[in-house]
Amino acid sequence: MKELIKKFEQYQTPFYWYDMELLGNTLRVIKEESSKYGFQVHYAVKANANLKILKKIKEHGFGSDCVSGNEILRSAEAGFASDKIVFAGVGKSDEEINIGLENDIFAFNAESIPELEVIDELAVLKDKAANVALRLNPNLAASTHEYISTGLNENKFGINLMDMDEVLKVLEGLKNIKLCGIHFHIGSQITDMDNFKSLCDKVNGIQDWFESKNIKLEHINVGGGFGIDYENPDKNPIPDFKAYFKVFADNLQLRPYQQLHFELGRSVVAQCGSLVAKVLYVKNGVEKKFAIVDAGITELIRPALYKARHEIHNICSEEVREKYDVVGPICESADFFRKNIMLPTTKRGDLLAIRSVGAYGQVMTSRYNLRRIVEAHYSDDV
Ligand SMILES: *Cc1c(COP(=O)(O)O)cnc(C)c1O
Repeated sequence: MKELIKKFEQYQTPFYWYDMELLGNTLRVIKEESSKYGFQVHYAVKANANLKILKKIKEHGFGSDCVSGNEILRSAEAGFASDKIVFAGVGKSDEEINIGLENDIFAFNAESIPELEVIDELAVLKDKAANVALRLNPNLAASTHEYISTGLNENKFGINLMDMDEVLKVLEGLKNIKLCGIHFHIGSQITDMDNFKSLCDKVNGIQDWFESKNIKLEHINVGGGFGIDYENPDKNPIPDFKAYFKVFADNLQLRPYQQLHFELGRSVVAQCGSLVAKVLYVKNGVEKKFAIVDAGITELIRPALYKARHEIHNICSEEVREKYDVVGPICESADFFRKNIMLPTTKRGDLLAIRSVGAYGQVMTSRYNLRRIVEAHYSDDV
């Protein structure tokens, strides 16, 4: 710990800190467990788009899953092969679709009939064939926060199953689209494996429907959403990928000619990142104290946006524990990290590590209040 504190003292706070060894170990486990079944994993770039992290993920042989044209360009910059890039999103602009076409990506995950028509129109102009997987809405309620549940019918994501006949009819007229598969993504931070088993059951039924129409789908993509242990980052630094992939191997009835794809974001990168902030002031309340730190919602918005609870460690103190609210400097009452958390006696100048923020942390930073853009440092920096 002492060495780490010394290292941290040379950096301007707040900053993101990435444990690259943990990332490497996580990637090795994912590779090992997915390879057992020949599954293809695409990393969901939106969780963390830092070039250094992308390059490391790419080195382990994974593809990428993008939700914007710029993420496709960033993936290409990091070295991801274009035939391993998938592109999802309900609102792909013409410019973004063109980026996908120009880069000959592996597949567009299309979410509506009007989107299919636009992809075809733009592909005709470029005299290209676009590989398309239909993002279907399985009408499943994943047990997670309402803002990160995406698989219900009345949801902006995906094509509803009741519209499928119409979709197939429209596709017949779209000559520059090649239907290569179906795609699902039921939500995020899902830790109950029964949700994924239910998804498999749904997919099996949908597969039968396609077969009854004599349509052969080469690719099934079950998205991401696998959750992590936010409460015990040190005890469970690597999610149980063995159990995760096994659920699909055991329950999904893959045809011999089919390949199964995953799009994992949070479970890959969340645990390797911490936000390190310095305590500016300690203020006495009635029954607790307030630790006011130099990071706020501008650096980490997850607690305000999703009521996310991140573990916080005071890395400079081992004194007796007291009750604190850890709050930021931004003029918003949602600008806090934790309320009523027990921390060792904390004083001005201490460094606090807010844990498990490698996913949906740094990528969501903003310049509200004209704050300085937060920097990242990596454990393998020399
Ligand atoms: C966000 C997203 C993912 C990744 O979700 P995680 O919960 O981070 O694994 C995968 N696929 C799609 C389509 C997404 O939007």
